[in-house]
Amino acid sequence: MPSVELTRRQFSFLAAAAFAAPPPPTVLVHEHVLVNFKRADYDANVVFTKVKPKLDAIAKLGCKRFQDCTPNFIGRDPKLLRRLADATGIEIWTNTGLYAARNHEYLPDYVQTETPEQLAARWTAEYRNGVHGMKPRFIKIGVNRGPLGALDKKIVKAAALCTKDTGLTIASHTGNGIAAMEQIAIVTEAKAPAAKFVWVHADGEKDHSFHKKAAEAGAWVEFDHIGPAKPALDWHLECVRFMDTNKLLHRTLISQDAGYYKPGEPDGGSFKDYDPIYTKFAPLLSPAQHKTLLQENPYAAFGK
Ligand SMILES: [Zn+2]
Repeated sequence: MPSVELTRRQFSFLAAAAFAAPPPPTVLVHEHVLVNFKRADYDANVVFTKVKPKLDAIAKLGCKRFQDCTPNFIGRDPKLLRRLADATGIEIWTNTGLYAARNHEYLPDYVQTETPEQLAARWTAEYRNGVHGMKPRFIKIGVNRGPLGALDKKIVKAAALCTKDTGLTIASHTGNGIAAMEQIAIVTEAKAPAAKFVWVHADGEKDHSFHKKAAEAGAWVEFDHIGPAKPALDWHLECVRFMDTNKLLHRTLISQDAGYYKPGEPDGGSFKDYDPIYTKFAPLLSPAQHKTLLQENPYAAFGK
């Protein structure tokens, strides 16, 4: 906080938030209901009961859409997401794609032998036919730190091909700036637009020059570990200000990577709530930044 006193701008923003109803509709582009890294059994009713009040809390704060980024083979559960969407009134999105990060531990065997074209066809089929009654609305992939290995490159190429077939945007869990730039190159070499690529976890790269380069190449740069406490708040605010200063806010996304129920841990393990982006971070933004980051950019990046 630069000063104890509120600036006029902050005051009018807070006053509007306090007195005007309802809050502006917003989108959280990267969150999780459940992630099953342990591949443990779980009771969907228990998860539902645990997560529903967390979603109710952000519905009250204006969350209209919640993009669930849990990939296939790590706990993607469209049936559970549908139930939560119906119960909370929040539009919840699921995804197609594969997660090659964590050294390929969560990749199915067929990835070794299939071509990028074959993998893309699987994902396009999921988009066209739906998964347990829910149509995936974006492609979620994950890669390891750069320089990228062959399997990582294959996944990215598949995502680029799937984008060309479906128009879906790619959100890629990315280890560092080198990996981000390599992926943007693969996407554009496949003749898919850079604007269909989202560099997920860009906050993990401390060198702002990568953020600038990726956004100038036309890709989206997503700072997505906002939390309730100071180090994360300060760093994400600095990232937003850097992008704003460089006139790249129109290529910037923010979110929290929050949640999530962890099967195999007592009571689903520790849960990072979804509301700090509204209660702690949004008040630090100017009204223009708020509008761009939480109201406009998610639609520009992922569609309506
Ligand atoms: Zn995530």
